[in-house]
Amino acid sequence: MRKIVLRLLILFKKLTYPTKNERIIRRAIKYAIRADELNVVYDTAKHQQSLQKATIEAETISDLKFLLRELSKIKGFDFLTDSEITSILNHENAHSNVAEIVGAPPTGYEVVIVKEGKNFYVAPFASFDDADDWLSEKKKVLDMIRILNAPNEYGDTNSVSDNKSIEKMKKLLLTIHE
Ligand SMILES: [Zn+2]
Repeated sequence: MRKIVLRLLILFKKLTYPTKNERIIRRAIKYAIRADELNVVYDTAKHQQSLQKATIEAETISDLKFLLRELSKIKGFDFLTDSEITSILNHENAHSNVAEIVGAPPTGYEVVIVKEGKNFYVAPFASFDDADDWLSEKKKVLDMIRILNAPNEYGDTNSVSDNKSIEKMKKLLLTIHE
């Protein structure tokens, strides 16, 4: 009898106390950002807030792997197959490595949960701080182009948004006269 009670208690705990990770993931899915809102740079406080609510942070590449694996177990996220996860990890790792090479200290990874109609998808990002020599606008833009182009350089492929950003940066470069 005691054993059964104990088991029930454990089960109850499991059901009512999701781990911190699970809670963060569920929250991000609940507040998933619309696809058309993701790439808009409104930069208003409200937009930043809704973006933040849909974002899950991962400190290291293995945290990112763990997070993507956890997500893949959730209904609607079965597009995250093992090979898809590997490709995301290689891709973001390439961005991080080049950020480090150009002197921009990597600060981890972020995954934004995006909803398009009824479907979910994920938008992962590698984040980094400014490099010391980015006081020069031209150097910053040139380094950003290298970081954005990192997946191409390291065997994976750039994402559509990487390439769009590169085009923007190249246009910006033409306007800088230092
Ligand atoms: Zn990318």
